[in-house]
Amino acid sequence: MTRILIAEDEPRISSFVSRGLESAGYTTVISEDGADAYRRALAGGIDLILLDVGLPTMDGFEVLTRLRAEGSAIPIIMLTARSSTLDTVSGLDAGANDYVSKPFKFDELLARIRSRLRETVTTERLDIVHDDVVLDPLTRRATVDGRELDLSAREFALAEQFLRHPGQVLSREQLLSRVWGLDFDPGSNIVDVYVRYLRAKLGAERIVTVRGAGYRWQ
Ligand code: CA
Repeated sequence: MTRILIAEDEPRISSFVSRGLESAGYTTVISEDGADAYRRALAGGIDLILLDVGLPTMDGFEVLTRLRAEGSAIPIIMLTARSSTLDTVSGLDAGANDYVSKPFKFDELLARIRSRLRETVTTERLDIVHDDVVLDPLTRRATVDGRELDLSAREFALAEQFLRHPGQVLSREQLLSRVWGLDFDPGSNIVDVYVRYLRAKLGAERIVTVRGAGYRWQ
């Protein structure tokens, strides 16, 4: 049975979402408080979290950041009334798997949940290896020549895209969509910034800039 934790302090929303999810065959647990949601998530038995940003005692971003810091890989979909690109990017960067802004249609939320749960199953696979670089998608550990690297969630996701498509040119649009979940360019140079971070950690020569097209893993 798939258990979904709904961390949401507006009873109107949590009961609406809970009813919908239960009738779609999921088990739900409601938490109206950030610290409580954090404890429940760490206690285990939760397959996905719907995490409101504005929560009492500990806000959604803090819950997210702390869970990731604890090594929790539970899929997390942030729910927020704020729809600014900056919040979206910082939430995704802190390790959220997806983002849904309120008000949302239940069907849209359900589709996102299904898609995130499918990904979790498919990430339980073998290491991705290219030359001396090894990524373990399950534990998010990255090593170069046996030396462990400290990669953020986004850096890891970006490295994973490159290693899964060695020798292929990946455009900024493709990377924004696959790594940040954005179907639009937020008008920032976020991809270039993260490529720079990765080059600093993995070695500059591994990621080649293809002028006017994007980046390629050598
Ligand atoms: Ca709230």
